[in-house]
Amino acid sequence: MGFEYVSPPLCEMLGLEAEDLLRDCTLIFSAAHPDEAEDLIRANSHARTTLNPFRWEGRFIVHGQIRWLRISSDPAPLADGGSLWSGVFNDITESKRVEDALRQQKQFADDIINSLPGIFYMLDVDRRFVRVNRQFLTVTGYAQGELDCMTAGDFFEGEDSVLIAQKTQEVFVRGGSSAEAGFLVKSGRKIPYYFTGRRTTIDGQFYLVGLGVDITERRKLEQELVRQAKTDPLTGVSNRRHFIEMAEQEILRARRYGKPLSVLMLDLDEFKLINDRYGHQAGDGVLCKVCDIYRLTLRVVDIVGRMGGEEFAILLPETNAEKAVEVAERLRQDIAHTAIPMGGDEVLHITASIGICTLGPEGDDIDVLLNRADQAMYQVKRSGRNRVEVAHSR
Ligand code: GH3
Ligand code: MG
Ligand code: MG
Repeated sequence: MGFEYVSPPLCEMLGLEAEDLLRDCTLIFSAAHPDEAEDLIRANSHARTTLNPFRWEGRFIVHGQIRWLRISSDPAPLADGGSLWSGVFNDITESKRVEDALRQQKQFADDIINSLPGIFYMLDVDRRFVRVNRQFLTVTGYAQGELDCMTAGDFFEGEDSVLIAQKTQEVFVRGGSSAEAGFLVKSGRKIPYYFTGRRTTIDGQFYLVGLGVDITERRKLEQELVRQAKTDPLTGVSNRRHFIEMAEQEILRARRYGKPLSVLMLDLDEFKLINDRYGHQAGDGVLCKVCDIYRLTLRVVDIVGRMGGEEFAILLPETNAEKAVEVAERLRQDIAHTAIPMGGDEVLHITASIGICTLGPEGDDIDVLLNRADQAMYQVKRSGRNRVEVAHSR
């Protein structure tokens, strides 16, 4: 093996003299970077024995500096059965440097998007996935290959689909948007997510880049706060404010559809004595027990509110006065007949006084209805308790 001709630019590229190269072609191997020399020798001899085209790129040391060279050499058969190799050397140091810089930039971008506290996505204008982070694949359960055949629309259904279509459109038209929607993952589970989107331009093309964060915990917390704001912490029935809100809606509905509606005011009798005798905590237990009786006796559409201490208001939708008396009487009896265990063998029986008021044609609001039911209830208190009384119509 030996060179028959080497061009001046090649000599310059290698930092070697033509005559030296022509004398000893292995100088090429010595010029290769020590880490690459062995590979170059192996690749070269493999090409020569197989007569395959020789393609190789690697580092050389030229005048003490590292240069990247690409060698491309092909055999041509000779009449004597041998072969003549002609080849080209290219100095690709600069493009390698650019490539390296790009690779580092990409690595840097990958590190950033993989360290984001959520899923990252980059979509084209057809809402196809151009790039996602690792969490995206983990959360959705899809492989990159599957994602390549999908669009953002595949992750939403129903109203969320419409919303997300609108919002992505907004990003491309206005530059940015955000939305909360159920993120439908491969397992079929729908996870509440908050999504952001910003428009970005690459090579004259619009793209959407954005982040999605799981808001399951926040949603739970919000729901819990809403629940707490509506319920009486001891008994779990609606608190006064929520009862009034719901009652107002029910009254509107009753008026709109011309349906009857009744309100009961229920006050436990001689409750103070229970506290005095068994203690406040036992009294609390009795209040809870009474609320259990409501749950068993009343319909799900009936609304119970704890209006204060041991006083409850009960709204009965679609219930006229006659029916309300039946319900109140049943409730009164259920309370009176319930034996409440007080520890040991001791059981307690309690009673309640109930006032009833029915929505009239006068346009009464909930305050008026509660007031009238309250008056009827006090009428019961005055006349001996443990009874049901209907408020006088005005
Ligand atoms: P009446 O038959 O006239 O209604 O007599 P009463 O003792 O039930 O009425 P009163 O209004 O005099 O007393 C109500 C009692 O309810 C007084 C209060 O200590 C008690 N109470 C109010 N809220 C609670 C509570 O959350 N837990 C307990 N254990 N007791 C309560
Ligand atoms: Mg009482
Ligand atoms: Mg009371």
